[in-house]
Amino acid sequence: VTPPVLGHEVAGDIEEVGSDVRGYSKGDRVAVHHHVPCHTCYYCLRGDHTLCQEFPKSNLDPCGFAEYLRVPETNVSKGAVFRLPDGMSYEEAALAEPTGCCIRGIDRLGIQNEDSTLIIGAGPAGLTYVRLLRAFGTGLIVATDVIESRVRWARKFGTDQAFNAADTNLHRQVLDATEGRGVDNVIVASGNVKAIEASFQFVRKGGKILLFGIPPEGSVFSCDASSVFIREIKLIPSYSTTENEIQRALEMMETGMIRLTDMITHRSHLSEIAEAFRIADDARLSLKVMVHE
Ligand SMILES: [Zn+2]
Ligand SMILES: [Zn+2]
Repeated sequence: VTPPVLGHEVAGDIEEVGSDVRGYSKGDRVAVHHHVPCHTCYYCLRGDHTLCQEFPKSNLDPCGFAEYLRVPETNVSKGAVFRLPDGMSYEEAALAEPTGCCIRGIDRLGIQNEDSTLIIGAGPAGLTYVRLLRAFGTGLIVATDVIESRVRWARKFGTDQAFNAADTNLHRQVLDATEGRGVDNVIVASGNVKAIEASFQFVRKGGKILLFGIPPEGSVFSCDASSVFIREIKLIPSYSTTENEIQRALEMMETGMIRLTDMITHRSHLSEIAEAFRIADDARLSLKVMVHE
């Protein structure tokens, strides 16, 4: 088992360019993506780029939490080094990768204009979804979280309604907001299997559930199989992102279509990274923690 590579949402300056690299030079301000698909295999040719065997193999060396890092040739040649627009901060650029993940999730859901959406989990991902859906101009946006401070964050980020997931009236409130149907889409922006299990009661007949949060390996959820069948519920997972969505995220940021830096609650220097992890782990205290050099 290879240890996970930590830190993959990275922006900074190019310090040195490989001898065969064209189009980039020292001093360029860039964001980099750690994984790239091959674009030629069975999965890539069918549009399932994040399922490409090469995808998880490419990575930053040694990782994103470093003063200097090397970007593999394959990442450079496949377009995973993004030049930053003038005036875009590194902090904003570092949010392009997670935002790309959310854009891909919305693509996979195939959200229609007037669709209503419930977002379970109002952490950084859930809040990014709120802002993206607002930017795309979809219908009702409701969010829930078990942590009250995050429910308040959801309201601040522009939901129509936000509830504590522990609220016993939650089910009724979601139904009331959708003429008794349930929402068109549920985005499970939490890896907790309880959140996945809860999602089935909020989605309308024929509706879609996006599995976006990363569940712990080996975790199991249960659902009423007959109800899923009769009600034709669609379960759609979305794992990671590619250059395409990251580029779109950067463009949305550059044009002001989306603004996300206000979710940064803490900033830590690289030398205090253990403390940064501790803060990030405390969901009552923090939302997004930025580590800088
Ligand atoms: Zn491939
Ligand atoms: Zn990420």
